[in-house]
Amino acid sequence: MEKRPGGVGRVVKKKAKHMGREWLKRLLTALVSMLLSIFGTYSYAQTGKVIPRRELLSGTASFHFIDVGQGDATLILTGDAAVLIDTGTGDSAGALTAYLKTYVGRLDYLILTHPHDDHVGGADEVMDSIPVGRVLMPLVEHNGYTESLMRQAAERGIPVFDAKLGGQYAAGDITCTLLGPVRKDYENLNDVSAVVRVDVGGVSLLVSGDAELEGETDVLRANDPALLDCDIYQVGHHGSSTSTSLEFYTAISPDHCVISCGYGNSYGHPHTTVLQLLTLSGAQIYRTDTEGTIVLDTDGETVTRRGSMTWETEAESAA
Ligand SMILES: [Zn+2]
Repeated sequence: MEKRPGGVGRVVKKKAKHMGREWLKRLLTALVSMLLSIFGTYSYAQTGKVIPRRELLSGTASFHFIDVGQGDATLILTGDAAVLIDTGTGDSAGALTAYLKTYVGRLDYLILTHPHDDHVGGADEVMDSIPVGRVLMPLVEHNGYTESLMRQAAERGIPVFDAKLGGQYAAGDITCTLLGPVRKDYENLNDVSAVVRVDVGGVSLLVSGDAELEGETDVLRANDPALLDCDIYQVGHHGSSTSTSLEFYTAISPDHCVISCGYGNSYGHPHTTVLQLLTLSGAQIYRTDTEGTIVLDTDGETVTRRGSMTWETEAESAA
C-alpha cells in the first residue's frame, strides 16, 4: 500500500535564560545554537530507530491520521507519550508498523474502537512490532475478534481494559476520555464503537469509530455537551452518511475534519451529504484517500497542518 507519512514544519524555539549581563546571554545563546545544530536534530527512540528530535520537544504534540487505505489508524504523540487509536486492516499492517517504528518507541495505550477488521485487523502486528502498555476496547464479541485480541494481548503480558462510558486514561500530557459506547447491546456493532475525546493541552480531538445515528444520539444524551466540543474531528465511519448527524456534528463544531478512507473505496466514502455539511460549516477538511497521511501539529493552543515531506527525504536527512 502506498504510504505518504507527513513531513516537517516545526520551528525550534530556543529559550534564552534571563541573565544580568547581555554579553554572557549572547555567548550562551550562540553556544546553544551551535550545539543544537550539531546534536539536536535527531535522537534515538527505544527501538534504536532514528526519529526526528522535534517529536521529543516538550509542550508540543502531533495527531497522525495514518493512511491505511479503507480503515482508521490515528496516532497521538507528545514528547513523552503515545496513543494509537485503531490499526487499520491486516493488509495495511506492514505499512502501519513501519510508520510506528519510525515515529514511536512504545505505545502507552492501544485503543480499539470496535472489533471490525478495518479497525483491529493490524492489532496483532502492532503488538508484535512495538511495546504496548495497555489495550483498551469495548469487550463485546464479534466473529471471534475480541477473544482473539484478548489472547494475543495476554500472550504478550499486555493488560486489556473494557472501554466504556466515563472511563478516563492519561499518559503524559495526553488524556483520553470515553464518551461512549453508552451500551453494548446495540444490534449494529458500529454503534458499540468507543467514542474517544483526546485532550493535549488546550487542543482536543474526537474519534467516534464507526458509531452511527443511534450510537451518536446516545453519546449526545449521556454526556455534558461541553465534552463533545472539540477542535479536531475524525469524521465518523469514514465519512459515511450513516454517521455525523447534524446534531452530533453541531455539538462537536470542529475547526478541522479528517476523513480516513481508501481511495476509490466500494462504499463511496466519504458521502456527498457529509462533505456538504463539513464544507458548509467552514471547517478545514483533510482526506487520507486523496492526500495520504495527514499530520496536524499543535503547541497546545493552535493547530497547524504539517507540510509535505516524503518518507525518503526524511530518511536521507537522518543519515
Ligand atoms: Zn470502519
